[in-house]
Amino acid sequence: MSDKAFASSADLAEKEQTLELLADGVYALTAEGDPNVGAIEGGDFLVCFEAMATPVAARRWLAQLREHTDKPVRYLVLSHYHAVRVLGASAFGAGTIVTHEKTRELIAERGRADWESEYARMPRLFQEPSSIPGLTWPTATFTDRFTIDLGGGRGDLMLQYCGRGHTEGDIVAWLPAQKILFAGDLVEAQAALYTGDAFHRDWAGGTLDRVAALGAEKLVGGRGAVARGADACAAAIGQTRHFLDVMLADVGAVHARGGTLSEAFAAAHGALVDRYGRWPIFEHCMPFNTSRLWDELSGIERPRIWTAQRDREVWDELQG
Ligand SMILES: [Zn+2]
Repeated sequence: MSDKAFASSADLAEKEQTLELLADGVYALTAEGDPNVGAIEGGDFLVCFEAMATPVAARRWLAQLREHTDKPVRYLVLSHYHAVRVLGASAFGAGTIVTHEKTRELIAERGRADWESEYARMPRLFQEPSSIPGLTWPTATFTDRFTIDLGGGRGDLMLQYCGRGHTEGDIVAWLPAQKILFAGDLVEAQAALYTGDAFHRDWAGGTLDRVAALGAEKLVGGRGAVARGADACAAAIGQTRHFLDVMLADVGAVHARGGTLSEAFAAAHGALVDRYGRWPIFEHCMPFNTSRLWDELSGIERPRIWTAQRDREVWDELQG
């Protein structure tokens, strides 16, 4: 049996939230490695980026945002389907909830299982879980690009698909005039990657190339600190790619020689722990990451659905 507590189930210490103003009317809320959220002011409305895990958690964020602006939330943009990003959506009263088309399909296919899985993995993020009214459904979807005219001389907000990565349907939110990027979980700055639903090869290749090509000068990743300056943005993207490249090399080598999943886990963990082991959710993520990459290398095209039961089985096999 596992001598490490399952996933993040023992991570119960409250994280400190920090509201950062990135430019006039552009906000990010970071929280020491907990999922980041953001907001962008239009002329007479707001666009919110990510919804947190429950309406109660979201209302805490909105209360902080309301100290700066009372504009109504016209758009809620969700970068991907994961429960801790989407289940707080009802708190925003948004006119339109925007995701990638694939995200809508993934919510239909596995939203319920993902909710149960993530709740067991990260219970602290689910403040008052009974406040969740049900799955979150987008009311507008797109495949390549969705442009929001912010009005009031504030330019455009571009929602863009960059290819398969952290999931099958991640999108980023890009402010070209201010060169500010909300990258969702496609980029992590000083936080470990979760790749349990990922497409490692696509993500480490063309997808991150397209993210990098935007030329961000401020970058809000899925977790961790805001990267400020072109060098810091490039470093965050580079760290994300490095993590993926190491996983691909080490898990790939064990897979190629006909080794076992446990050996692959030990190899990848050993190769990454010195650099990333102290960062949030590293131990939590590695079993799920290795399992998914093993499947990917075995020719399983789409990630298998994580259920609370499968989570425990993989955890006990690799972290036990
Ligand atoms: Zn995610």
